[in-house]
Amino acid sequence: MVVIGRPVNGISINPGLEFLLDDEGAVRYFEGMDAVMAFLKENGFTDEDMPSFTFLESCGTCRRCGAPLFKSLLPEYAYQCFGCDEDFYAFEQAAYPV
Ligand SMILES: [Zn+2]
Repeated sequence: MVVIGRPVNGISINPGLEFLLDDEGAVRYFEGMDAVMAFLKENGFTDEDMPSFTFLESCGTCRRCGAPLFKSLLPEYAYQCFGCDEDFYAFEQAAYPV
């Protein structure tokens, strides 16, 4: 699974990312980069826009809620889960090493 992130407000010096949401306000997951590219092109983005996006690929499954697990953007954490809306230390998700 892949999620699409962009710097908050499109300002690249801002370390925060915001993630593409679905109609219900939950982070939208894509099944692989082909699906991501198809979606972005459908929505009017071109290859030139791609470097402004950050694509995160899932690296496991959340032990707590079963949602896809992604690398954390915070240096002190190993993983983040959009299902739990939380960051986790490596040992908290230890059954799913990167
Ligand atoms: Zn979770």
